Amino acid sequence: MRAQIVAGNWKMNNDLSETESLIASLKGQTKTSDAEVMVAPTATNLYPAYNSLKGSGIEVIAQNMHFAANGAYTGEVSATMLKSVGVETVILGHSERREYFNETDEMLAKKVDAALANDMRVIFCFGEELADRKSGNHENVVESQIKNALFHLEADAFKSIVLAYEPVWAIGTGETASPEQAQDMHAFIRKTLADKYGAVVADSVSILYGGSVKPNNAVEIFSKPDVDGGLIGGASLNAEDFFAIVNAF
Ligand code: PGA
Repeated sequence: MRAQIVAGNWKMNNDLSETESLIASLKGQTKTSDAEVMVAPTATNLYPAYNSLKGSGIEVIAQNMHFAANGAYTGEVSATMLKSVGVETVILGHSERREYFNETDEMLAKKVDAALANDMRVIFCFGEELADRKSGNHENVVESQIKNALFHLEADAFKSIVLAYEPVWAIGTGETASPEQAQDMHAFIRKTLADKYGAVVADSVSILYGGSVKPNNAVEIFSKPDVDGGLIGGASLNAEDFFAIVNAF
């Protein structure tokens, strides 16, 4: 069985005291599903969050990292630095990183390699823009994003990779892909993996959906057979809403 995962991407929200109060609210929630739960605070709050959530069953993960081990990359954070503060999982390729920080598939391939070389787990994000969806090109776009950043890997690497399909037009817009659109794309992604690595690998990789997942639509989205969880932005900033989504499985 594939892991079910619900990960909260807090983006550039919450200073230290806001982070601690959100964590206190998260610890007051009751989990009734088997989903793995993760939250991604901003870089300055990773270590305090790690300490506060130790033993809670909620994993603290990073929103990004650089591919170099160290050196003259002002403002950047490396895999070894993340690991030294207890972080074992990193989100890579979020559409906001691609759009505002010019992250390319080529750069993301290097980041994936650096994370795996440091025994980290990767949540690899990708997804089409509205124009691609309207022109019917969405599957080609997603296929090339996955191939360019991941298909140099050996099959074994996929034990440490989680995929997150996030249509750009659904992120932060209140407009979700319909559960059927999500399922169709997730099935396409799994077939793309199966064609390259075989069905055993394809069936073992968790594929998350992201883009305006809320308590009122999570049950229907998560009920689809190829949707193994969610990457949650806005709704993860409220502990009750986030756990309503965690418990939607
Ligand atoms: P959203 O963000 O839930 O606010 O749409 C999702 C994401 O960016 O991961």
